[in-house]
Amino acid sequence: MSTPESILAKGRDHLAMPGPSVIPERVLRSMHRPAPNIYAGELVDITASIKSDLKKVAGSSGEVALYIGNGHASWEACLSNMFSRGDKVLFLFTGRFGMAWAGAAREMGIDVQELDFGAQRTVDAAELESVLKSDTEHEIKAVLTVHTDTASSSSNDLAAIRQAIDAAKHPALYVVDSIASFACEAFHMDKLGVDVVLTASQKGLMTPPGLAIMIVGERFWEYQKKADLVTPYWNAHTRIYTEMFPDNFNGTPPTHHLYGLREALDMLVEEGIENTWKRHSVMARAVWAAVHAWGKGGDFVCNIEDEKMRSQAVTMIRTPTGVGGQLQQLCIERFGVVLGVALDPSPGRAITDDAFRIGHMGHLNPPMLLGTLGCVEAGLNALNVSRGSGALDAAAAVIAQGG
Ligand SMILES: *Cc1c(COP(=O)(O)O)cnc(C)c1O
Repeated sequence: MSTPESILAKGRDHLAMPGPSVIPERVLRSMHRPAPNIYAGELVDITASIKSDLKKVAGSSGEVALYIGNGHASWEACLSNMFSRGDKVLFLFTGRFGMAWAGAAREMGIDVQELDFGAQRTVDAAELESVLKSDTEHEIKAVLTVHTDTASSSSNDLAAIRQAIDAAKHPALYVVDSIASFACEAFHMDKLGVDVVLTASQKGLMTPPGLAIMIVGERFWEYQKKADLVTPYWNAHTRIYTEMFPDNFNGTPPTHHLYGLREALDMLVEEGIENTWKRHSVMARAVWAAVHAWGKGGDFVCNIEDEKMRSQAVTMIRTPTGVGGQLQQLCIERFGVVLGVALDPSPGRAITDDAFRIGHMGHLNPPMLLGTLGCVEAGLNALNVSRGSGALDAAAAVIAQGG
């Protein structure tokens, strides 16, 4: 955050990282209240309505299991409920997040197969189809993929993946990590034929980190009955088919997160989820237009070249050597804007200074986004980095058309 020496960073700092995202005032205010009864009353009603609205946002006729936890918790929730030690599953990698999820599966004793598409493109459905076709014994129990990979900022074509599974006539369960993309990018669980979807509270859902969400379709239960990795805490059955309210959380509920998420869902319902997706599309294109302009006179490029493969929730921007790291530092200290660090897609290195990320997920409007882009421009100026001109004009033009 801004340092005491900073002359300019005196207003509210802006978080432009890809999660946690900005928490709206309304959500903050809704959480400022005394501790509620956890056995009856408002909290019970709120939780039921949260589940129902999450299903609406997800386009799902399934059921919702809630956990106190972050995104990693949702990974473990799904793995433990669906699989037994030694089960073979297929992970699709389009960056680091899928790899980390697969790593958890491997540690749990699941037989992980992987298809790695690298960190600069999305899943190749034809390749997936041929791998599934060659699994004639149907040993692969599930296909697991991220929607948006938050490190590479790619966004997979989920319909194409479904089509590949169908074309191979393969019965594998289709499991999607939608943690970065939920309520930012178009998604419809039923129409896409997704069997299980995971998300968490702190990205498109605009609520503090602490709630992991798993939405399951009918076929999940065939797997759940047989899974030998399921433990009492993760068991989705006891959380969904509850005897008393605290069973929803296998203990004390995350009381204030529930008030926060209720308010956030009110905001999404008022906006209309399709409008939320449209807003994110405009914000994303404004970022890309700025990067394109910078790239005309310098070494700046979106990590994902093909616009159709890009996420609407986050953009990874490659910069000249070292500039990404310097820019983040400068933007925090001098301007109060927190850009996202860039996770290095190559194995072995955690973070790269030759890139940065802009999170454009959740609670975001033109002044917040243009403010961020303006601060990046000012930062590049202060660092004396050569680049193309007109980035802010280009971003403003996208915003102007997007209204
Ligand atoms: C953020 C994120 C996660 C991890 O969430 P945590 O809350 O940090 O555990 C997993 N997958 C994707 C795609 C994400 O964006």
